Amino acid sequence: MYYYYDDQNVLQGPYSNSALQKWFQKQYLPAGTLVYDKYMQPFLIEYVVNRSLKSRTKVMFHDDTFNLDRTNLDVTLHLCSPELSNTTSSSEDFTQLEGGVDEVDFGRGFEYEKEPCFLNQLMINSYIEQRALLNRRRRFPDTYCPFENTWNNWVPEPIEMNVALRGAIHTHNMVQTFDERIISGYLNFLNIYPHPCQLCDVKFSNSKEMLEHFLSVIHIQRSYKTGGTFSYIDLYCARKIIYEVEMSYADKNFDFLADDVHFQSRKMSFFDEFDILTAFESLKSTVAVSQGVPLLSPPRNTLDTLGYVEAVVFLRVFQEKYKRMPEALRGRRFGPTGKTWCNYCKVEFDATFLESFPTHLFSEEHIDNALYNGVSRADMEYWLSFMEPLMNGNCKRVRHQDRVEVSLQESDFPLCYVPVGRVEGDFSYTGKDMQPVLKYVSDEIAASFDLLDDYKYRTTCRWCRTDLFTRNGVLRHILHDKCHLDRLNSVSNDDLRRLLCSLDIKIRVPLFRQSKRTSSPMDVKEKKFYLQRLRNVCSKKLNNFFSSHQRSTLSQLAARSFPVGLVNRCDLCDVTIDRVDAMIMHLSSEQHIANLIESPRISNNDVQYWLTIFNVDGRRSRVF
Ligand SMILES: [Zn+2]
Ligand SMILES: [Zn+2]
Ligand SMILES: [Zn+2]
Ligand SMILES: [Zn+2]
Repeated sequence: MYYYYDDQNVLQGPYSNSALQKWFQKQYLPAGTLVYDKYMQPFLIEYVVNRSLKSRTKVMFHDDTFNLDRTNLDVTLHLCSPELSNTTSSSEDFTQLEGGVDEVDFGRGFEYEKEPCFLNQLMINSYIEQRALLNRRRRFPDTYCPFENTWNNWVPEPIEMNVALRGAIHTHNMVQTFDERIISGYLNFLNIYPHPCQLCDVKFSNSKEMLEHFLSVIHIQRSYKTGGTFSYIDLYCARKIIYEVEMSYADKNFDFLADDVHFQSRKMSFFDEFDILTAFESLKSTVAVSQGVPLLSPPRNTLDTLGYVEAVVFLRVFQEKYKRMPEALRGRRFGPTGKTWCNYCKVEFDATFLESFPTHLFSEEHIDNALYNGVSRADMEYWLSFMEPLMNGNCKRVRHQDRVEVSLQESDFPLCYVPVGRVEGDFSYTGKDMQPVLKYVSDEIAASFDLLDDYKYRTTCRWCRTDLFTRNGVLRHILHDKCHLDRLNSVSNDDLRRLLCSLDIKIRVPLFRQSKRTSSPMDVKEKKFYLQRLRNVCSKKLNNFFSSHQRSTLSQLAARSFPVGLVNRCDLCDVTIDRVDAMIMHLSSEQHIANLIESPRISNNDVQYWLTIFNVDGRRSRVF
């Protein structure tokens, strides 16, 4: 407590340190003013203020569970006081709370608080470290800022308010010691730019100020009052950000300041061009053709897998976008009528209408399974792209003059017309062979990632008189629509080849790819013997083909040994194959045989596959 003499030379006081500090900052009591302690010993006000700043924080927290190695408790504690935060634009007006210790130190005696079960610092580290890089690659940049918004109850590792407060206060102390340019620069590097706090209605002039607000007692208390919760994710991310800035100070490495990196520019998606009707048509078609709903299956590879924290962050983005989607749209059909299978939870649920999807997606069981098995980045971006225009209501309207009828020529979409003239060497699958052929093609297409990149393709199926608007819409129609399939009585092999080729789907059979299993690898001698034998058979077939009247031999061969007729690629030689006869020629070519002999993973079964097709050893050809 201190006293001072006012303009009339009247002794005023006693006043608290924080009051002095406030007046000092506002220049009511400028530097050089003398203040007196209770023994009437004079001090310069700046000395008192600075000393009080130093001594106060020592009594703050001593918390082993949140102990940064370099945590220097000898730091100022600035809190946004409750009275001030109600008035807007006072965000810079941080003042120390008298008795702030009591207010924030709920945690006393709470030493045995729950530690996160499986979320660990490593997950957080890799998330923050890769974030800038990943943001450059993805369609929807990650704008998550720790402690900005609370989570719904599905968030993993939620924390009690007192734990959040204690952690945030520590971090807040650290943030204050950093130079504004450095910490704001690092936050901008992470794609965290200043924007108003929606909850408290406060604006910020830089990212440091904004982060300080999100870490303030008033913001966190207010956030918990809205019913949400923070998570260890917030706590650990804030801690990692501080650590990164500290390291940059230690190494004097401020590379992140060099680039003025703006990730905000969102790449256009095909949904941005569609009207609502077409957007839903495309979604329905994609669900049908891919034989599943995006986000209901684990990713196919690690490259496509969102990191744990990313997945959590983007699930929240999904939820926010969905909430902003007009009610009327949520009741629309999007999936197959009846049951839809979730590959994570191994359960069926009714996904006929859009609204049933998030209900399952945010169920406790599904969140657990999805985060455990990984979430596909492509699937997530697909859904976010889909919802973006619907959410903002800036969906394109259908303009009828846009509907240009495309006349269907031979060169148009395969399987959508009666073939006019046959390509030489072409043949058809008919009768009971058709179903397994179409199933094989559907499955190959479903396994293709590119389905999530639908595009405009206006055409009309002449048989069914159905207008089709997107590539996936056409695929769904020709492969899955009953009205179309009922009309189909033969499928041209060349049509299928063109279809697969247009989708960039590669079909390979044994000896045109590396075997996965090496259960019966052959030694070189054995290999040479069998390959020579195979080559002899091929030559014989080829001779027949070129010299005799049996021009249909190869097509017969391919027709009865599906999917040989569709092979369009040799991985071993890295070549594309455009016709059935070219494939047989490739099989017996010098280059191919040489590559086969070099390849370590060619098994006896691979050779047998072909000898059977050529009907050697007296066995009947394999048909399907
Ligand atoms: Zn706030
Ligand atoms: Zn599920
Ligand atoms: Zn049709
Ligand atoms: Zn080859």
